[in-house]
Amino acid sequence: MDSYDDLLNKAYAELPDKAKSHDERFEIPVLDSIQQGTKTIVKNFASFCEKIRREPQYVAKFMSREFAVPTSLEGSSLILHSKFNTKIINEKLQKYVKKYVVCPECFKPDTKILEQDRIKLLVCGACGARTSIR
Ligand SMILES: [Zn+2]
Repeated sequence: MDSYDDLLNKAYAELPDKAKSHDERFEIPVLDSIQQGTKTIVKNFASFCEKIRREPQYVAKFMSREFAVPTSLEGSSLILHSKFNTKIINEKLQKYVKKYVVCPECFKPDTKILEQDRIKLLVCGACGARTSIR
């Protein structure tokens, strides 16, 4: 007869991968960019925003502030009006995701931003945590 531990191990082994990866952190999508003349074109920007569930214009505004250059949206791309390399662009966007998207409690990206009395709150749909954003 199987011991209780054996049964538990067996039950765990039979869990689908999804249940096992419960604690894994959200993987931030990686963006590709190219320099063209005096501009940098960030490709797949729209699908990146879709994955992190944020409006492209808000993310574009953040990029504009971080890089201190004007930005514009063109189709599914983001245009930065200066030259930057892909590495720094991804670093900035990871910073954005860590600050404005991923829940600091459970590391899931199922969040939205609420504004309350001029305070921005990151509200998590997965664990219910509310974190103020500075
Ligand atoms: Zn959470």
